[in-house]
Parts: sequence; structure tokens; C-alpha cells
Amino acid sequence: MATRATKRGSERTGLGGTRDVLVCGASFAGLMAARELAGSGADVLVIDRYEIGERQTSACAIPTAYLENLGLLEAEKQRFSSVLIRTAHGSARLPVPWEFSTFDYPTLCELLWRDCDATFETAKVNGRGEPPNGGLAAEPEGAPIAVETDRGVISAPLVVDTMGWKRVLASGSPYQPPDAPLSRGLEVHPGGGRDELEVFINRKYVPAGYGWSFPADDEIRVGVGSFDPRFHVRPTTETLAEDLGVETIGWQGNWIPHKLRPATGQGVFFAGDSAGHCLPLTAEGIRPALYFGAALGRELRAVHDGRRTRERALAGYESFNRSHQRHFDWLLRAQKILPRFPPRLVRPVMATVGIRRIADFAFNAYLDIAPPEFIQPVRARRTAPEPEPEAAVAA
Ligand SMILES: Cc1cc2nc3c(=O)[nH]c(=O)nc-3n(C[C@H](O)[C@H](O)[C@H](O)COP(=O)(O)OP(=O)(O)OC[C@H]3O[C@@H](n4cnc5c(N)ncnc54)[C@H](O)[C@@H]3O)c2cc1C
Repeated sequence: MATRATKRGSERTGLGGTRDVLVCGASFAGLMAARELAGSGADVLVIDRYEIGERQTSACAIPTAYLENLGLLEAEKQRFSSVLIRTAHGSARLPVPWEFSTFDYPTLCELLWRDCDATFETAKVNGRGEPPNGGLAAEPEGAPIAVETDRGVISAPLVVDTMGWKRVLASGSPYQPPDAPLSRGLEVHPGGGRDELEVFINRKYVPAGYGWSFPADDEIRVGVGSFDPRFHVRPTTETLAEDLGVETIGWQGNWIPHKLRPATGQGVFFAGDSAGHCLPLTAEGIRPALYFGAALGRELRAVHDGRRTRERALAGYESFNRSHQRHFDWLLRAQKILPRFPPRLVRPVMATVGIRRIADFAFNAYLDIAPPEFIQPVRARRTAPEPEPEAAVAA
């Protein structure tokens, strides 16, 4: 289990005041939104319950072009040009027309943070705070939104929730497993040294979903994801690890959304898992979190620059979100069909997808849902902190 590096005791001082932008959640979507604001002059505060990069949230596999366009290949651990599909009735190799990489989570987060010029604090967000007027009068357009944290209430006219599927800053009826459209994902991180990116479509591990083995240089991320939240994946993650002859150490898991949700609500912007941006069927959530985080950051920048009102930015970002609805619906349909396939047919179908022209068409259409070209080079890069003057260090 990761050691907790967040501030404790006397280090945990109060937080408050009003910022231009408050980003809650410092993982893929939140850091990407903050990165788009770098150099804008906006006073951006990013908060998370943990230090940046402290708790890994995924198996960290992504199309390589995303790392390239972000200028973050430094975080890459291993690269793959095909996916080996393993079924109960044999294997099929899918020739992907672009490459996949696994990366190191803390390094990627630190590098994304290096591209931001925001400030960061550890704080747990509890929910929305009381509006300044106690909710008695209508809020003027663009008025600051209060966010309650375990270190105090922080306000900002532009508030972002990138805290994952719980969607902490949303109001309305609770969205809880097993009734909500959430998949389950769990994995172990034993020592590495393998070459193949493997996906297991086999009811031995999960009736609806898949298992994976993603090598990352010195470790492998081996896990099981179930589209059905009622299916418990821990025992079969152990079975898969045993079949692969690896240790069950370094557990990591979470619920994974598989349905697109509104990306705005009551003045708050949502991106990544909080808006259901994880792609159904593949449970690929990092690329869309970065993609929608970038789109959101651009809208926030336009508000800060005076090119849009907050209300127009909310409407523009929601319309961008909804323009992806049909892709998410298609993948969700495929996610529902896959488990109904007779197991004997899975390998022949995968072998068909393995035909180069079909693979190129299918994988390129899939990549285009959140294309790497959308990611732009960094605008400003945080410089290394000035060394402390010797006198101050000595003191
Ligand atoms: C086992 C597993 C393996 C996966 N593997 C892959 C993969 O290989 N490739 C891929 O593309 N996707 C993968 N996914 C999906 C992917 O991890 C998510 O879709 C992605 O992490 C979403 O990014 P995000 O920035 O929205 O949220 P997250 O990465 O979940 O980050 C949320 C952040 O919010 C913080 N936070 C949460 N609550 C609070 C609070 N109350 N107060 C303050 N901070 C808070 C958290 O500490 C965290 O830093 C996997 C998921 C699982 C569960």
C-alpha cells in the first residue's frame, strides 16, 4: 500500500479565500485543465486529498501519441504495437495501427504539474459550501461558488470537479454501485519482465468484462474488470495472477463509469470519470480524461481572458461533451453485446478484427473519439524552484 505523504497535524493549516479557478482533483483530468490555464495569469488553485501522483488510479496504458503530444515520453515505461487477445479457445493478435505505452503514474503527474503555473494544496473536498447569501437571493451570474473542504471553505467563480465517479460537487440523487452504470476494476502490481500487452476474454475470469496483463518495465499490472458491478473481481484477479505465475501484491482498484454524464451542473464543470468520460467496452479513461480536461481548460481560459462569460463556457463545454454521445452509446452497445457472444466465437471474431484493413479502420475510428492531435504543446513550463539562499538553509 502506498505511504500517505499528505500534510498532517500542524502542517494542515486552514484554507480559504477566493481564487479565479478552483480545480478539485489532481489526476489526469484536473492536471490537464490546470495545464491549459498556464500562462493565462489566472490565480488557479488545485486541491486533492493526496499529494500529486501519490495514489495510482489505473493500469496506466495509453496511446503513445498522447505521451508524445504532451511532451511527456519521459514517463513511458514500455511500448507495444499489438494486443494479444487470449480466449478460452485460443489466442489472436490484433495489429493496432498505432502504439500503446504503459507509463509511470507519479512521473506523469509530476510532469503534467511541471507544465502548470497553479498552486497546489492537499485538502479533502466534502461538497458544496453554503452560498455567501445563504441561498436566500438569486446568485448574480458568474458569482463565486463555495466548496467545503476539511481545511475550510474555498470559493471561485470557476470550479472544476475532476474527483472521479463520485462527482462530489454535483447535487441530485445519489449515484451508487451496484445500481449506477459503473464497472468494477481491480489489479495487482507484481514484478515485471514481460513483452506482450495481453487481454483475456474468458468467462473463467469474468462473465462480462475482461482481464489484462500490462507490462510496465519493472512491474506488470494484472487485473480484471467487470461490466457488471455485482460481480466480485478479487477472487478472479487472484486466479489470473496465479495462472500468469505472478504475485498478488500492490492492489489497486476502483469503480469505472461506463456512461457519459452531463459535464456541467449548477455552475460547476466536470471532466474525466466525474462526467463519465471513461470509454465503455475498453474502460480506457486516461485519454478521454486528458482530452476533456484540455477542452475544459480552454473554456476556462476564455472566461478568464474575458472572451466568454461563465454561462457561455458552461453551455459550450456541455455541447462539446454531448457531441461525443453517439460514440459512447456505440461502445456501450458493444459492451452489452460482447458477453452474449458464445465463447467459441470470440477467437474467430477477434481473428477477423486481426485482418489489417479491418483493424486499421476499427482502431483509427476508436482513436478519433479523442484524437491525440487535440493535445497542444505546453504554453508555459514551471521552472525548477530557485535554490534556497544558503543563509536560509542554514537557519
Ligand atoms: C484497476 C483500473 C485500471 C485501469 N486501467 C486503465 C488503463 O490502463 N488505461 C486507461 O486509459 N484507463 C484505465 N482505467 C480507468 C482510469 O483509471 C480512469 O478513467 C482515470 O483515472 C480517470 O481520470 P480522472 O482524472 O477523471 O480521475 P482519477 O484518476 O480517478 O483521479 C481523481 C482524483 O481526485 C482525487 N479525489 C477523489 N475524491 C476526492 C475528494 N473528496 N477530495 C479531494 N480529492 C479527491 C483523487 O485522490 C484523485 O487524485 C483503469 C481503472 C481502474 C479502476
